[in-house]
Formats: sequence, C-alpha cells, structure tokens
Amino acid sequence: MKMSRYLVPTLKEDPSDAVITSHRLMLRAGLIRKESAGMYIYLPLGLRVLQKIIAIIREEMNKSGALEFLMPELTSADLWKESGRWHSMGPEMIRIKDRNGIEYALAPTHEEAFTNVIRMIVTSYKDLPVNAYQINTKFRDEIRPRFGVMRSKEFIMKDAYSFDSDEDGLEGSYQIMRQTYRTIFKRCGLETIPVEADTGSMGGSNSEEFMVASEVGEEVLLLCEVCGYKSNQERATCQYQLSPTNEDEEALAIVDTPDVRTINELVQFFGCSAHTFLKSLIYVADGTPIMAVVPGDREINEVKLKNTLNAVDLELAPDAVVEEVTGAPVGFAGPILVKGKALRIIFDTQIKTIKNAITGANQRDKHYKGVNPGRDFVIGQEADIVLVVAGDRCPHCGNALIETRGIEVGHIFKLGYKYTRAMNVKVLDKNGKAITPIMGCYGIGVNRTMAAVIEQHNDDRGIIWPMSVAPFQVHCISLAKNEKEEGAADTIYSMLVDAGIEVLYDDRTASPGFKFGDADLIGIPIRITLGKAFFGDSSSIEVKLRNKDEKIIIAKDMIVDYCKKQIVQMLQKLNA
Ligand code: ATP
Ligand code: MG
Repeated sequence: MKMSRYLVPTLKEDPSDAVITSHRLMLRAGLIRKESAGMYIYLPLGLRVLQKIIAIIREEMNKSGALEFLMPELTSADLWKESGRWHSMGPEMIRIKDRNGIEYALAPTHEEAFTNVIRMIVTSYKDLPVNAYQINTKFRDEIRPRFGVMRSKEFIMKDAYSFDSDEDGLEGSYQIMRQTYRTIFKRCGLETIPVEADTGSMGGSNSEEFMVASEVGEEVLLLCEVCGYKSNQERATCQYQLSPTNEDEEALAIVDTPDVRTINELVQFFGCSAHTFLKSLIYVADGTPIMAVVPGDREINEVKLKNTLNAVDLELAPDAVVEEVTGAPVGFAGPILVKGKALRIIFDTQIKTIKNAITGANQRDKHYKGVNPGRDFVIGQEADIVLVVAGDRCPHCGNALIETRGIEVGHIFKLGYKYTRAMNVKVLDKNGKAITPIMGCYGIGVNRTMAAVIEQHNDDRGIIWPMSVAPFQVHCISLAKNEKEEGAADTIYSMLVDAGIEVLYDDRTASPGFKFGDADLIGIPIRITLGKAFFGDSSSIEVKLRNKDEKIIIAKDMIVDYCKKQIVQMLQKLNA
C-alpha cells in the first residue's frame, strides 16, 4: 500500500482524552477515531489489525470443530422473556421498538438467540456435541464507557455456545475451548493469565477469564505464587484466620458511643482490634432492604453478596432507608434488631467464630459489647461475602496471596441447563428419550484484544506489533529525491508485493525524520529504508526491526528472501 494513496492520520501530540497507552497510541498511529462517547471508527490501518485478530480467532475456532453462524443483532424481546433476562439484564441492554411497537434488544450477548436456533435445528443426540459461534457486534450501554475500545458501547465479540448431551460432554467441550483460547491469545502475541471467575448474570458454576496483566486493567486478580491459584477478586476465596474460641462469653452490655461511628473511631474508643466488630451494612437488593454482616477488618464483596441473594440490583441503602429499617441513624446498625423490626441478614461465614464482639445497637449513639453470635442473635443465613485482598491466605495451600491488575480479554464458562431448561430445548437420546442439552459459553472481545496487544507491546516511540497482527509486515521507507530514484524505490516495493509480502510503502514527500517517526509510531515489525546507499552504487538496503535497536545492511537482491525469512520466523515464534 502506497502511503501517498492511503489515509494514515498520525498525530504528533497525545490526545488529551486518552489516559491509557493503547488508547493514546491507537489515536496517534491513525488506527481509530472517536465518533461519540464509547463509539469508535476503525480507520483503514486499524481495521487491518482487527481483521487479522478475527482471522486468527476464526482459524482456531474452526480447527476446534466449532461451526460459524451469523445471528441477527436485533434480538426479539420474546426470546429474552423466555429466559427471564428481559428484566434481569437491566439498563445495560439497549431496547428498541419497531414501527408496530414490537420490542427488541440490540444484542449485548447471544445465549438466547443460539439456544433458540439449536432448538430449531437439532433434534437428535447424533448432532451433539455442537459448538456454534459467530464473530459479530455487541451493544452494551456501559455505565462508564472508557479507555477507548477497551470498554465501548459497541464492540465485536467472538461468542460461542456449546451444547452437549451430558456433563462429561460439556467438560470435553469446555476443555477444548480452554486450549483453543490459549492458542488464540498466544498467536496474537498476548501473554494471558487464566483465572477463576465469577459467573455473574450468566449463572453456572465453572468459569475462567483470560487476563492480560496490566497496570491499567480494571480487574483485580489474586494469585498464589506457591500453588498457582489464580482468581478474579470478584470470585476469590481465602482461608480464615480463626479467632480463639476458648474465651469466656461476656455478658451483653450496651455502651454509650456518642458520635463514634466508623470502624477506626470504634477501634480507638473500645481499644480492641477491628476484627471484633460486626460491620453491618444495609443494602437494597431488587427493591428490598437487607443487612450484610462481615468482620470489622473486612470489606464486603458485593458480587458474592449479589450472587448469594440471587439479586439483579444491589446498592448501598440511602440514609433514610437505613434509619427506617434499623431505627437508628447510619453508623449504629447491627444484627441484634430492635423489637418489631424484621430484616433479612446475610452473615459472613467468619462471623460465627467471633466471640465477645462489638456491634451497633440500632439506637443512636449506642453500641453493644459482649455480643456472641448464636446466643445474642441467630445466624439465619451465612455465606462467604468478604473481599479477598493481598496477604490473605490462599484457599488451596494457605500461603499469602498477591494482588495484580488485569484486562479481561476472554471468558469461558459452563452455563449448565440455565437456558436450555428455561427455553425448553429437547433432543432425543439413543433410546428415543427426550433429554435437555447442557451448555457452555465462550467469549473473546476482539477490539479489547487489539488494545491489550498494544498495552503489552509498545515503547516511548509507539506500538511494536507482533508479526501475526501487524497491519502490514514490512514498512518500506523511500528517501528518493528525484523521479529516477522514485522509480528504483517503486521496483523494490513491487518485488516485495509480488512475493506476497504485506508492505506499507512510504512514498510521501516528507522529511526522513518525519517518516521514521511515523514508522516507529505505527510499529510495523520490519522497517526497510531505501536511502543514499540504495540509490548509489552499492544498492544496499538498511533494515531495522521495530523491536531491536541495531540496523543491518542487506543487498538489494537478498531483500525479498530476508524479509520472507524474518516473517516466517516471527510467526513461528508465536505459534510455538
Ligand atoms: P467486563 O467485566 O469487562 O464488563 P464482561 O464480563 O461483561 O466484561 P463478557 O460478557 O464475558 O464480558 O464478554 C466477553 C468479552 O467481551 C470480554 O471478555 C471482553 O473481552 C469483551 N467485552 C465485554 N464488554 C466489553 C465492552 N464494553 N467493550 C469492549 N469489549 C468488551
Ligand atoms: Mg460487562
């Protein structure tokens, strides 16, 4: 591609609204432009990268035996109502009506749509297992679209849905996808960390996210360097440090605590450890107030709490609601309710081990001390609802966990029977008996993968593309000064193109410094320069790899072979 005929609007300055490296470089290298909040235009150079990532995904999915479909983006409300998600998807799902008032969703995901098509076309166990996938646009009205294409309102996803006769079959389909994902990300030049993950609104139990370690990642990961446990913080569990249980139970007593509300203030006031406080927070879950109780030194994991409650919406209750349900202002809530008040309470599993605790008395400026779970209040429902943090003990081996941040690029999970049951999918087994298939579901964010590659491959001058996803393989810079030299440079460009090499050819009238600056910014793996030496007697060409500092000289006749060999070697490294 001749740059004189192409559109690569590179930017000298950092765009002010881009806070992370990939977003900044995608704008500066002329790959994307913002259309409006959370919506991006792929320019020709950026589209090439996206298409390369898509090609890798498609190749590996096809190799795994998955079958490609193309589903409508407008998904009928009836399908979502069948599964119950018309309500539970909440405001992230964009809903529209046609001229007849018929309702649709702009698909944020396609479980219902694929379950429906399988229901239509699969009737026998002989057709199973099937893994149906597509590479298609998704729409999500994200609360906070940010970081460029990392979290946008419209993005391309590869989504796949497996259907099996039984759980063993599902395990097989899931393992194939686990392996396929590892291969896909490796081929894109991405190092990923697979972590245990929450299954969120999808339901189901077994799930893994593919994370790219990055300071700008929105996910917090907990890792054990000893046994290899890796989990998303949303899902992470830990072993508890149990408090001694041989203490005598003290009598329950009420203490005046004027204006002592926060855990820090309480620690000072009572002179004991934060762990002995029963931190009691009021939430509103799908419109109903509830209380969640954790030890005072812990934070609540709202994802775990939401799953425990099976709630769609969970928010901290406004002050007025707290006063109404506890009978006291914020800061004095506790699980010993005042007479006449009733409230669903979820206790963290550690609570029962805390003796002689301190907690709010549900009265202004009063706390209880000598509180003993079981004696002073009943633990009706308990669940693990604490947020696991660095230093907590690994749930498998007990060693201290460490924290790091990650970008989620892919997600695989076992859905179980959630959709096939809700949507009444039946196939006949060997004995002619109707059975319900079991599902798995597997997503990759294509645009986010592109951004994550840049986060992992860049320097202060620009992007350093892995060969597999680079927009072009060779960047050929011509420093020709007259028509004769231009002709000679054109010949090299044609030789490379004829050999099947993807070449971005800088034939523009611009200074060498400008051209080199653009080449570094755009980040094509092999740069060749047709300069003085080439136009002079020696006919030699300067070659520089984007990820190395040194320059080497290659004879004109060898340049095609040299480039071909480099390309093959670089691709092989990513395939290994
Ligand atoms: P997140 O927690 O980041 O919102 P998710 O759990 O909602 O992600 P999935 O529903 O599992 O994501 O979607 C599969 C993949 O789609 C994700 O792993 C991610 O790579 C990509 N993805 C999800 N939301 C967005 C978005 N708003 N913009 C770009 N890519 C996205
Ligand atoms: Mg999301």
